[in-house]
Amino acid sequence: MMYRYLFGPVPSRRLGVSLGIDLVPLKVCSFNCIFCECGRTTDLTVERREYVPTAAVIRELDDYLRGGPHLDYITFSGSGEPTLHAGIGAVISHIRAAHPSYRIALLTNGSLFSDPAVRKDVRGLDLIIPSLNAVSPGLFARINRPHASVTPEGIIDGLVALRGEFCGELWLEIFIIPGINDTPEEIALLSAAVGRIRPDRVQLNTLDRPGAVGWVQPASQAVLDWIAAAIDHPAVEVVGRPSEAPVPVLPEGIPDLILGTLRRRPCTLDDLARICGLRASEVRKYCSVLVAEGKISEKTGDRGIFYTFNP
Ligand code: SF4
Repeated sequence: MMYRYLFGPVPSRRLGVSLGIDLVPLKVCSFNCIFCECGRTTDLTVERREYVPTAAVIRELDDYLRGGPHLDYITFSGSGEPTLHAGIGAVISHIRAAHPSYRIALLTNGSLFSDPAVRKDVRGLDLIIPSLNAVSPGLFARINRPHASVTPEGIIDGLVALRGEFCGELWLEIFIIPGINDTPEEIALLSAAVGRIRPDRVQLNTLDRPGAVGWVQPASQAVLDWIAAAIDHPAVEVVGRPSEAPVPVLPEGIPDLILGTLRRRPCTLDDLARICGLRASEVRKYCSVLVAEGKISEKTGDRGIFYTFNP
C-alpha cells in the first residue's frame, strides 16, 4: 500500500524510531515561522476542518501497524499544524483502541489550546511537545508571523489550561534565534512563562538546517548554555546541538541510495524525494543524519536546499 498520510518511520533524536502522521497539506498552518523547514505557509489559518479524510488516515494506520512493527512513537507532525485537523481526536482514539501498545506524540505550535475542544481531542496522547519562542508580542510576531487572532498570552493561557487537564508528558520547546529572542529580558519572560505552564521538560532548540528565511543562524553553544542556566526549571536540556547529539542508526537502503545518487551529482531535496520515492520531509531527516556524519553537505540555493557528496 502506498501511504499518503504516513511517513517514515524516521530516526528522531528526541523520539527514537518515529512513524509520522501528516494531517494537513503543505503548507497549512496558524504560523509562518522564519525558521520553518517546510518553507513558507500558503494557507495561514486557525480554521479547524477535515483537511484530509480521517477514514483514509485510519485505514493507512491499520495497514501499516498490522504486522506490529517496532516504533518508539507514532507522531503527529509534518507539513503544518496538526491540531488544525478536526479529526485528530478520532485518529488518537482509534490508535488507543485498536493499537494500544504504541505511544503517541504530537509536535505542535500550541496556538489552538485555548480552545477546550482541542484540549479534549489530545487527551489520549502520551506526549505533547508544544513550542513557545517568544513572550513579547513584537518578537512573537517577528519569529512566528502568526494568524492575526493568535497572541502569546493566548498561547500561554492555553498551555496552562492544557497542563491542568493533560495527564501525559509535556515537553516545552523553545527555539533560540541569535539576535532575536536570546536577550536577558526575553529569556526572563520565557522563564516566567515556563513557571506558569509547568512542563515536565524544557527543550532548547536551534537551527540545524536552512529555514524559511536565509538570515536565521544557529545559536552558539555558549548562548544555549547560558539560556539553559537562566531558565528556572529543573529539567532544561539542549536538543539543537547536532554535532554532539547521538546519531540515530538508519535503516539500510535509503542512506545508500542517497549517497550513491549524490556521488554522481548534487541534488535538491525534491530531487532526492523523487528518486527515493519518499516525502521531502522524510528525506530531510535521513539527509540531516548524513550531514551530521560528515558524509554529505547541505546548502541553500535558488532551487531550495541542495545536497552534495563529501568525497
Ligand atoms: S508552526 Fe511549525 S509548521 Fe507552522 S510555520 Fe512554524 S515551524 Fe512551520
